[in-house]
Amino acid sequence: WAKNQKSSSYQVFHDSMPVISGAQLTMETWLRYALERGEFELHYQPQLGLRSGCLEGAEALIRWRHPQQGFIPPLDFIPLAEETGLILPIGQWVLETACQQARQWQVKKLSLSHVAVNLSSVQFNQPDLIDCVAQALATNDLHPSQLELEVTETALMQDAAQAVETLNQLKALGIRLSVDDFGTGYSSLSYLKHLPIDTLKIDNCFVRGVTQDTKNQIILQSTIEMAHRLGLSIVAEGVETEPEKTLLVQYHCDFLQGYWIGRPMPAAALEDCLTGQDKVGSIAKFVT
Ligand code: C2E
Ligand code: MG
Ligand code: MG
Ligand code: MG
Repeated sequence: WAKNQKSSSYQVFHDSMPVISGAQLTMETWLRYALERGEFELHYQPQLGLRSGCLEGAEALIRWRHPQQGFIPPLDFIPLAEETGLILPIGQWVLETACQQARQWQVKKLSLSHVAVNLSSVQFNQPDLIDCVAQALATNDLHPSQLELEVTETALMQDAAQAVETLNQLKALGIRLSVDDFGTGYSSLSYLKHLPIDTLKIDNCFVRGVTQDTKNQIILQSTIEMAHRLGLSIVAEGVETEPEKTLLVQYHCDFLQGYWIGRPMPAAALEDCLTGQDKVGSIAKFVT
């Protein structure tokens, strides 16, 4: 399937159609069994709180280790999982696993205020979403404020009226809600007024190279100001360098996420970072 990895759609087949659709079928079969074979794992990427100078949150990111193909990045299988509906059991596994992990960190008294989980638009539009989330919290005895769900603008805009309803129900559970990849979807700013969201995650395309890009500086600065005036907090995604960090500190961004803070890593590795941090109160590099 090397060929169709390039295209994000799995429906565009040309001359070699039988071969490629065969490959798609194979991948679909693999994906179908990946859960029960335990081939998925979650990595966690830390989020640095700029007010505290501490790692305060972590985003759970799915990883697929295929026995023959090796590591397959999420963007190469999530679209197929969405098309086939397999995203529902996979997404439920992600939710359960992340809640279980968050609870373990809480029991160990590590100072992590929340774990964030990505919701696919297919999950977001699933009628039993609220029950699934409530159940994941209850089963793992996790306080709702320790779970954050990330929804993309595109998912929110598919049926804006229904989205308001769904988000209100999720909010009523007491969880945190964020808009992922903010600024890149087809959306209307009016939703910011109507939806019970806590956080905007401004997309990494605005952060990348921002020190050389005046327009991105204006976009970042005004988005952060707008968010604050609306009572929302802001996470900057994809912070890769110290100058980018410095600029975001100047703009009063609330949280930073990106390779400069830390790459997505196995739970045990993040736990080591958190343990180190809790010993000394913060991590030296982050004290600004
Ligand atoms: P996302 O939710 O926007 O996640 C952030 C992505 O940016 C992650 O890619 C992360 O590794 C990457 N990233 C973080 N910091 C940096 C940086 O400093 N530089 C660069 N270049 N990249 C950075 P990843 O893990 O490959 O995930 C890609 C996308 O796949 C995610 O984007 C999300 O949309 C989706 N995804 C991942 N895990 C899940 C999941 O469990 N469920 C669902 N539905 N989607 C998921
Ligand atoms: Mg995300
Ligand atoms: Mg994102
Ligand atoms: Mg993104």
